[in-house]
Amino acid sequence: MNYEKLSKGELIKKIDELEGWISQFKRKEVEELTLEFAWTGNLGHWYWNYKTNEVVFNPLKVTTLGYSVDEIPEVVNYQFFTDKLHPDDYERVMNEMILHLKGVSPVYEAEYRIKTKAGDWRWYMDIGKITQRDSDGNIEFLAGIVFDTTERHELLDQIEEKNKLLSKLAITDGLTQLYNHQAIYEKLVDEIKRSKRYQSNVSILLLDIDHFKRINDTHGHEVGNSVLKKVAERIGNSVRDVDMVGRYGGEEFLVIFPNSNVKQAHNAAERIRKDIEKTEFPEEIKVTISGGVVEYQSENVNELVDKADQQMYRAKQSGRNKIMSWMI
Ligand code: GH3
Ligand code: MG
Ligand code: MG
Repeated sequence: MNYEKLSKGELIKKIDELEGWISQFKRKEVEELTLEFAWTGNLGHWYWNYKTNEVVFNPLKVTTLGYSVDEIPEVVNYQFFTDKLHPDDYERVMNEMILHLKGVSPVYEAEYRIKTKAGDWRWYMDIGKITQRDSDGNIEFLAGIVFDTTERHELLDQIEEKNKLLSKLAITDGLTQLYNHQAIYEKLVDEIKRSKRYQSNVSILLLDIDHFKRINDTHGHEVGNSVLKKVAERIGNSVRDVDMVGRYGGEEFLVIFPNSNVKQAHNAAERIRKDIEKTEFPEEIKVTISGGVVEYQSENVNELVDKADQQMYRAKQSGRNKIMSWMI
């Protein structure tokens, strides 16, 4: 900087500015000496001259972003960082800063993603505050610290993934990948509530593989399992997306048909029965199912399933490979 060319006014302004920086650095020195500031590998320190919009920082703040020290412009302004903010975080971070600058919040605190030189994202936790005002009360300086919290976020993401997986496992039957007994039962409780609230129909189908014991006895448990899997897959393929299928017991399945009366559910059940009948199974096993259909009236969940079970029993009694419905 060539100071000789500056006017007196400009020089005074420059001196003011430099004095401002000096007082900031003195503050930093005091902090470091007296507070034994806990420097760690993921911590950065910044000062923002609000009047000149110049930001100084220890290199950690940008070297963690993949920039080398000599790639950093001589004068870095606030926008050097905010331009690199993740679009989903930008507005929130700006708001936090505005709230602090306006005196609404005592500190500025924001966690955000910031783009690295390579184009991926790192998480920064940023905390700062106004540290100096001029005699008129105008903001002169802000100072703050920034932590790289990427690893913590990666860990949190992993935990979230695992939790999702666990939640899925908790409601899934391991063999068929359908809802397990408890999950389909809870779905039925929910659907009944929904049906009451919106006065809509809901019907269920309870179905059971015919002479499954024979299949096991003749072909072995493993083949029995593969039949169960295939039946489950076929049921899933035969119903609408809104219908729910669960493995209710060993070789027994429960299907919930929301917004369906008994007739519609009966037709859907027939479609499943016919589909299974014509499906090819390993070792040329012939597989059929029997089922009972019932539409929810006002009974409780167990009574409703019992009614479907009674219809299924009738289907078994009358020769199997049949759907019987509780006609209203
Ligand atoms: P029905 O036509 O009257 O339903 O006769 P069924 O032989 O199918 O009925 P039963 O209840 O006598 O037999 C059901 C069999 O299903 C007995 C049980 O060992 C078998 N089973 C239950 N769960 C599994 C399973 O996970 N895998 C295999 N392979 N078999 C199972
Ligand atoms: Mg059976
Ligand atoms: Mg059974």
